[in-house]
Parts: sequence; structure tokens; C-alpha cells
Amino acid sequence: MKKLKEMGVRALIVSIDDFHQEFIHRDRVINVIRACKEIHLEVKLQFVATKSSGRLADFLHEHGDDLLNIECREIPCHPVGRASFKIKDESLFTTKGVPQGLCPSSVMSISAYGKVIPCCNTAGHLPSLEVGDISQSIIPLHKKFLKDPIFNLLRLKGPKAFYESAINMGYNPREDGYIDQCHLCYDLFKNNQLAEELKDFAAENFEHELYETYLEEYTNNYSQILNMNNKESNTSNHSL
Ligand code: SF4
Repeated sequence: MKKLKEMGVRALIVSIDDFHQEFIHRDRVINVIRACKEIHLEVKLQFVATKSSGRLADFLHEHGDDLLNIECREIPCHPVGRASFKIKDESLFTTKGVPQGLCPSSVMSISAYGKVIPCCNTAGHLPSLEVGDISQSIIPLHKKFLKDPIFNLLRLKGPKAFYESAINMGYNPREDGYIDQCHLCYDLFKNNQLAEELKDFAAENFEHELYETYLEEYTNNYSQILNMNNKESNTSNHSL
């Protein structure tokens, strides 16, 4: 841990849950947390849960003393990687309907395989959303990440912006619904052909969506100013 800190690591996220514990004993994770605390390196704990797995509350109950002053977060399991074939749909925390949230953490990242990816969340590792790889220069990749209509539309409106068009392109929505917006993002972009069509859709529609969003913001702000002015003039009329 000391060496990592000396090399510039500023924070660490460690995972513990039924799935990680198959490979890494929980004592080792607790030891990492203790070591981080000792050298004042920021550490957070992440716990992936399903309806049928262990839960963070139980873990906190057993290891609460070691976790004092540590940010602990329980996150719902998404059906990707091993979970796509090991976890039954009924164990996932899905909600019917289309997730309305915006893209929550679009941060250009480097995967363990050297891929430059748009986020570390569910859809971030999909080949269809790859920005490039580490053999390429980072500055043009970052420009691409910032300018690409697909990432911009995801940031501006969230994956829901693609939902209706995807259905028109043949996408079958999940009957049980989705866990969150990142699950919808994954489901939309996991099919390469559909992903390509959605990229074209983003290229054609992003500027219009941006214009609509600014117009809406401007109209809302303008109405607020008008309301404030009306209130002020009413107050001064009363005081006359
Ligand atoms: S919405 Fe998609 S791009 Fe944004 S953080 Fe989630 S998975 Fe990543």
C-alpha cells in the first residue's frame, strides 16, 4: 500500500461480496482496508448484491469496527460477465419501465486489457462503445470521447434517449424491466449491429437534442426571472 501511495495512487475501491469472496477471502480485503487507514490512503468498499446473495448490512454487522470512517456502498448486480449466466433474472433488482436517469459516471477510463473505455460501469466494457486502446495517443482519444455524439447524447439525456429509436430498429425491451439506466445502456449497445444504428441516430440527432435542452433551460430561467420581477413589482405596488 505504501508503495502504491508513493507511486501516486490517491484512492482505492475494494470489493467484497459473495462473488468476489469465491476467489479472495474477506480477511484479505479487511487487511487492505486496515493498511490503507494506517497510511491515510482513501479507501472505499463496494458490495454487489442480488435478492438471493449476502447483503452489505450483514457484512457491516460482522466487520463494523474495521469499517468505521469508510464509505461503504451496496450496488445491485448487473447481468454481465459471470452474472449473465449464473444469476437468475428473478434475483435481480429490476423495475418495470424505462430508467429515466442520466449517464451517471461518464469518465474516460483504461481497462485492465488496455482498452480506452467511456466508463467503468455496465456498458463501459462493450466493444461497441470502446474509444480506442493504449497504443494510441491519449489526447486525440480524449477529444474523441468529448466530441463523440453517442457519449454526448448519453451524458445529455441518458440511455432513455435511444429507447424508442432502438425499438423501431428491432430492439426487444426486457419484460422484467431494468435495474437502472446503465443496465438499459448495456442492453441497447451489447448488439453490435443495433449499436451501429444507434450511433448513426446519435450523429443525426445530438445537435437537435442539445438545442432543445438549451431552449428548455432558457425558457425556464426566463419564466423564473419574469415571476420574480412580477412578485417584486406587486410588493412595491402594495407598499405605495
Ligand atoms: S449510462 Fe452507459 S456510458 Fe453512462 S455510465 Fe452507465 S453504462 Fe456507462
